[in-house]
Amino acid sequence: MIKADQCPACGDKARTRRFADGTFTLWICKGCNLGYCDPLPDRARLEEAYTDAYAGATEGYFSKVDRKLARSRGRVRHMARYLNPTIPKNAARFLDVGCNGGFMVQAAVERGFAAHGLDPDPVSIAYAKAHYPKGHFTHSFLEDFQARAGLQSDERFDAIYCSEVIEHAPDPNAFAAALASLAAPGAVLYLTTPDLGHLMVPKNLAKWDAYCPPDHCLYFSRTSLGALLSRHGFTPMAFRLAIKPGIKILARRISHL
Ligand SMILES: [Zn+2]
Repeated sequence: MIKADQCPACGDKARTRRFADGTFTLWICKGCNLGYCDPLPDRARLEEAYTDAYAGATEGYFSKVDRKLARSRGRVRHMARYLNPTIPKNAARFLDVGCNGGFMVQAAVERGFAAHGLDPDPVSIAYAKAHYPKGHFTHSFLEDFQARAGLQSDERFDAIYCSEVIEHAPDPNAFAAALASLAAPGAVLYLTTPDLGHLMVPKNLAKWDAYCPPDHCLYFSRTSLGALLSRHGFTPMAFRLAIKPGIKILARRISHL
C-alpha cells in the first residue's frame, strides 16, 4: 500500500477529510474535487485482487447473460451515434477496457466493428474467449497493454468503452494517458464510474455499496472526472442520466493530437 499525501490526479496537497474507518481515510482534493483513499493500493495489491478475491466469485458474473448482451447492444448503439463521421461504420475499431465476460465486445462484433477486450481477471478472459470467438481478448491491465501495444496511428481505436474500472486505478494520470494514447484522433470514449457527487450517496459512506477501499481507491464526481479527461486530451460531450450514483460520460479525443 502507498501512503497518499497529495491528490494522485492534480498533485494538490490541500484537501478535506470526507470519511475514515480506522484503516482508510477518504480525502477530497481541494484542487480538482477528486476523492482518493489513503493509503492507495500498490501493484501487488492490484494483482492480488484479481488472482484471489475475485477469481472464485467471477463465475457468478456470467449469469443473466441475455440481459447483459441486451444492455451492451444498447450501449454500443449509443456509442455508434458519436463515432467520428469520417470512419466507415463497418471499419470502426472498438476497445473494451475491463471487458468482463466479453459482452460489449460481442455486441460491437455484431455491429460489424473489429472489437478487442482487455481484463486483468483470467477467468473473465477465458470465458470471453470461449463464448465470443469473433472478438479479440487480452489478459492485461490497461497500462501494460498500452505500453506493449506500440500501435501505429492507423491502428488506434475509434471507440473505447471503460465501465467501472477507473475507480480501481491508483494512478489516474497513467490510466487516462493510456486511454488517450490508444484512442484515434476524434475517437469516442464512453466511461462509467461511481459518482461521489450524486445526491443519492449516503452521508455515511459505509452505507454506500460503491464505497469499498482499497479496491475502489478513487471516487470521482462529474467535475473531477471532466478535469482529468480534459487534461489528457478528451473533450467531455455528454453525461447520460443516472438514477443510481454513477457517472456515464461520453467524451471525444481531440483530433489535432
Ligand atoms: Zn486533485
